[in-house]
Amino acid sequence: MIGVFGGTFDPVHYGHLRTLLEVCELLPLSEVRLIPCHIPAHRGVPGATPKQRLAMLQLALQDIPRFVVDQRELDRGGRSYTVDTLTSLRDELGAAPLCLILGMDAFIKLDTWHEWSRLIELAHIVVMQRPGCVMPSGAVAELVARHRVNDKKYLMRSAAGGIWFQQVTQLEIAATAIREQVAQERDIRFLLPETVREYIKANNLYH
Ligand code: ATP
Repeated sequence: MIGVFGGTFDPVHYGHLRTLLEVCELLPLSEVRLIPCHIPAHRGVPGATPKQRLAMLQLALQDIPRFVVDQRELDRGGRSYTVDTLTSLRDELGAAPLCLILGMDAFIKLDTWHEWSRLIELAHIVVMQRPGCVMPSGAVAELVARHRVNDKKYLMRSAAGGIWFQQVTQLEIAATAIREQVAQERDIRFLLPETVREYIKANNLYH
């Protein structure tokens, strides 16, 4: 079973990596594709360029064989929509089970995503519990009511269509706070891999 994890990764940090590793072990997943977006659909312009965000992701993942950087959103260019990414992955993977992995903060706003109701037809959705987030309401809660599965084995038996909530060690780390700390010349060690911290320093990012 393959996982897909999209983000701005501006920069990638241990909040992403530690929780993903746990999801990978607990489901289990054979591989997770980390997909940096080109132009994010739901937020302002990132502080680092697409090339820099990609370089930081590659540095962070170099010793983790199960985590693979997938550049398809950068290659496609323009605004990045998850529905397009899942459609192209589905074309490649045929009927293999595919899990779209999201933090709860992203999941509760799923109904604002482009063609959001198609996502569950293309993949399962695995939601990681993140500190300070409530359960969804409205249209997303209705989606949960229709698609939530109580046995994760269901995810392995079908290509798409299930929603699974995964408890993970909660790490309150956010890229926004890291960028702010860099701008204030504070020390960002232990929030992200050393290789990424060195890259930020060497390229004078986020000042
Ligand atoms: P920013 O602060 O710039 O908005 P971010 O740290 O939330 O960034 P993104 O790259 O925007 O990171 O998020 C990509 C995905 O990672 C989203 O699904 C988000 O919910 C998830 N995520 C981010 N930080 C954490 C964390 N600390 N724990 C679990 N999931 C996280």
